[in-house]
Amino acid sequence: MVLQVYLDDVVALDKPHACGGTEWVVVRLGADIGLRCLRCRHRVLLPRGRFEQRFARFITRATPPEPEIDLDLEQPQPQGRV
Ligand SMILES: [Zn+2]
Repeated sequence: MVLQVYLDDVVALDKPHACGGTEWVVVRLGADIGLRCLRCRHRVLLPRGRFEQRFARFITRATPPEPEIDLDLEQPQPQGRV
């Protein structure tokens, strides 16, 4: 199962940060997930697999980006004949 996580989501991990903070905001997505501790503003990078292991729950969710819907229906589909 792939964890759907978006920029600006706030998450809790399995253990609190060294500063005692338990909430992290997602600041970077990719092979590594960038997180910033909301308490001390410390920033860390976790490989996605590691992040998913340590993920506990969502605190708040940012709105996921809307998929682009192509409303330009007037263009005829090319009649591909090979
Ligand atoms: Zn911290």
